[in-house]
Amino acid sequence: MTTDNNPATSDPLRQGLDSLGVSPARLELLQRLGLETVGDLLFHFPRAYEDLTEVRRIAELTEGDLLTVQGEVVEIDGRELLKGGCVVSVVLSDDGRHCLEGLWFNQPHAAARFRMGQRLAFSGKPKWFRDYRRNREYWQMTCPRVQPLDGIAAADGGIVPVYPLTENLRVDQLRPVIKTALVRHAADVPEPLPASLRLKHNFLDAPGALHEIHFPADLPGAEQARRRFVYEELLLLQLALALRRREVRDRQQAPLLPCSPAIDEHIRRLLPFRLTQDQDRAVAGVCRDLAQSRPMQRLVQADVGAGKTAVAVYALLVAVANKHQAALMAPTEVLAAQHARTLDGYLARSRVRRLLLTGGLPEKERRRALEQIAAGEIDLVVGTQALVQSDVRFARLGLVVIDEQHKFGVNQRARMRWGGVQGQALDPHYLVMTATPIPRTIALTVFGDLDVSLIKQLPPGRQPVRTRWVRTGQREEVHERVRAGLRQGRQAYVVCPLVEESERLNLKSAAQVQAELEAGPFRGFRVGLLHGRLEDQAKDAVMEAFRTRQLDLLVATSVVEVGIDIANATLMVIEDADRFGLSQLHQLRGRVSRGAVAGECYLFADPQTEEGEKRLRTFVRTTDGFTLAEEDARLRGPGEFFGTRQHGIGDLRFADLSRDTALLHLARKDAFALVTQDATLSRPEHAALRHAVLARYGRTLSLAAIG
Ligand code: ADP
Ligand code: MG
Repeated sequence: MTTDNNPATSDPLRQGLDSLGVSPARLELLQRLGLETVGDLLFHFPRAYEDLTEVRRIAELTEGDLLTVQGEVVEIDGRELLKGGCVVSVVLSDDGRHCLEGLWFNQPHAAARFRMGQRLAFSGKPKWFRDYRRNREYWQMTCPRVQPLDGIAAADGGIVPVYPLTENLRVDQLRPVIKTALVRHAADVPEPLPASLRLKHNFLDAPGALHEIHFPADLPGAEQARRRFVYEELLLLQLALALRRREVRDRQQAPLLPCSPAIDEHIRRLLPFRLTQDQDRAVAGVCRDLAQSRPMQRLVQADVGAGKTAVAVYALLVAVANKHQAALMAPTEVLAAQHARTLDGYLARSRVRRLLLTGGLPEKERRRALEQIAAGEIDLVVGTQALVQSDVRFARLGLVVIDEQHKFGVNQRARMRWGGVQGQALDPHYLVMTATPIPRTIALTVFGDLDVSLIKQLPPGRQPVRTRWVRTGQREEVHERVRAGLRQGRQAYVVCPLVEESERLNLKSAAQVQAELEAGPFRGFRVGLLHGRLEDQAKDAVMEAFRTRQLDLLVATSVVEVGIDIANATLMVIEDADRFGLSQLHQLRGRVSRGAVAGECYLFADPQTEEGEKRLRTFVRTTDGFTLAEEDARLRGPGEFFGTRQHGIGDLRFADLSRDTALLHLARKDAFALVTQDATLSRPEHAALRHAVLARYGRTLSLAAIG
């Protein structure tokens, strides 16, 4: 965030912190926390609070609880420890007789914070310490929280906020600056929440809530103030989604693409299998949507291998049968090529005209392809993001299917400009598919404007993958199992988290693993290497070699995660499995449960944490992707779910979706109700809300119509 120095447009919240009289040295420390403006500072919320209201005399201390003692420094001592390191000891007394020793280990500079005679409060859990050598007994606190009992901190009462801080910046230095900012500028903070909603949920107004967050009277008050801002954040997001949904429904017109019994029968005859019940249900949802003149906005969530591609193919063919063009977009060239191949298989005997459009196409062929698409000579286009370049024009695009949507960056969804749309009167229908089930909280945020179809059931005859978690000591045994499989003509993946070596993490790179396996345990077998840094063509070549069984074993990074479908590859070894998220592991494991042979998945991992252990145990036990997704979100936090935080729509600053689920549902309900009453938020009491929604999401979600 930059500081706006232009006085004409100057928003007080965008003033630099120097305007609060902060010294240059401290400005730099604040900058390190990302705090540049008054607004940054006001919205730099505590990450927790400590309740230091329980003040005791030293003579009345007890073990076990968090207690606060007030007294005078009577001794300061620093000494080296025999086993290395050092300890700083500061002794406090409140009556000249009873003593409490505060200890800081390996913080040699801690002593400099104190001086003899200084009045302080120590908060922590006291322990009764017996020093047998010196035959003394007294109270100790390890690394207590310290408050100087003079100046502002002492007057603040007993609830002390814990801020994310950097070294050299203490809470008692930060608080006066925040106090000044509040006094001068809290009233400048905009209030998007209408009074009616604040009343309904018992929320303070923005200035009041900010004050309560930084200087709470009690813990419930602080929590309620935090909830207010979380709610506000979620409400803005849900409003954006509700507006987006409405806008598409009210303003856009899509072609009617009904699925007659004849079309249905024809399509089913092209598919090499009978659809499962779940697939049928998803197909029914799609058909309902396609038969209407407002664009379909549907998300298909399927468990790995449950067969969402078949649903996509069905939808594409309904569009084509209705004399419209249809496009299928995949996140990578490898996947686009695979989809094109699948379609070739299904459509070998049909007259559907197909084309694969990727970035790798030579210029001349590309130009020819674009001409054919624009002339309506192509029915079905499969491609990568090359499909949404501005020079791609469709003659009459009826349906767009986007596979593995989240890989494109969620905030691009609304902004994808389909060339044909500008030229034609109608907008296409949209079908979006995700690679793995996603937790409900994420579905409601990132995909909150879409209808959802779930495909949980696996096709009949599918054998569940046998998953085994092995310690690195059992490596040889696992290699022997894999070799045995390869000798039977099966193929295997070895998945590693990294492309290049990382000394710091002490993990092996895929390249290194490939070299070692080829020279050692898998000598005589053909070992390939696939990772994300390879050129697209090189990737294709490797995948092609593996698919056509010119390779026995493929060492890969998680690029194999999405969608690769090779039935003969039924063995998988995952190195450093604790480095992957649960859903990602599930997606990886899904690669070896394609055919009739039961897949085998071996996880190498020696997790360092209890939580890591727990995750792997859960994974070995659970084969249901929907359950794993919820567990993943619970354990890692929803922000990490897609492996990156850069997702625009899902970027939440205050809300923690694993904790604030109830608020999410509340905000969603309120937002959709608001938009039902006031479709463009144009009532005066909604003006501030509308302004805030547009400022935050107007561009991301193309909320042009209300802008
Ligand atoms: P995913 O949902 O993971 O993308 P796919 O669509 O790639 O799954 O399907 C996984 C495999 O299951 C494919 O090989 C596909 O041919 C097969 N398949 C899909 N639906 C059925 C079905 N109803 N009966 C039998 N096999 C199916
Ligand atoms: Mg797939």
